[in-house]
Amino acid sequence: MKCPYCGCEMQNGIIQADNLLSWTPDGESSFGKTRWAKSPRSVVLAPYYFLQPAEVEAFYCSDCRKIVIDVPDQN
Ligand SMILES: [Zn+2]
Repeated sequence: MKCPYCGCEMQNGIIQADNLLSWTPDGESSFGKTRWAKSPRSVVLAPYYFLQPAEVEAFYCSDCRKIVIDVPDQN
């Protein structure tokens, strides 16, 4: 993937978490009682499965220090 900022080739990799990985709108919180907790308007980037880390593919540009993540289908 080309970096949308500088046009250079981005480095492919993954982001992992021991929890559900989500984007949460400003002013809301995704903290809850479980690892699956999220705000109603949160966008899930990687679901959490029991005994398995949440994982999402991500592209990194070291020059711009930006990371691009494709948002998976929200069920
Ligand atoms: Zn870049």
